[in-house]
Amino acid sequence: MKVAPSELDGVREILEKRQAELIHVLRKRDGITIEKSADQMDEIQYASERDLAMRNVDRESTLLRQVKAALRRIHDGSFGSCFECESAISPKRLAAIPWATCCIQCQEAADRKGQEPEDGSETLVNAA
Ligand SMILES: [Zn+2]
Repeated sequence: MKVAPSELDGVREILEKRQAELIHVLRKRDGITIEKSADQMDEIQYASERDLAMRNVDRESTLLRQVKAALRRIHDGSFGSCFECESAISPKRLAAIPWATCCIQCQEAADRKGQEPEDGSETLVNAA
């Protein structure tokens, strides 16, 4: 089963909008990391804000990567097929998470293993 071209257009629009939002948010976040204060209480406050911001940036960068990958899959025609088992991802799942790379079965299997079916770049970073 393939995703209908008309639906694909809608999905691409959603993804492109999401991509633009994420790029915008990530750009704005750049400023947070350099905030400084002489006041120690402020410093602590900023530190936790920075922490939170860094975690958000992490999450948003990952999402942005997934959104970009989904747009690439729309472009090359592989959108809608599971990355792992190549079966069709359910339209319901794609409507909820257009950047999903795998079907619900594979996602659940990956969740159980406690890892994302990703490109493995994070493992590399941790190992370094
Ligand atoms: Zn699958």
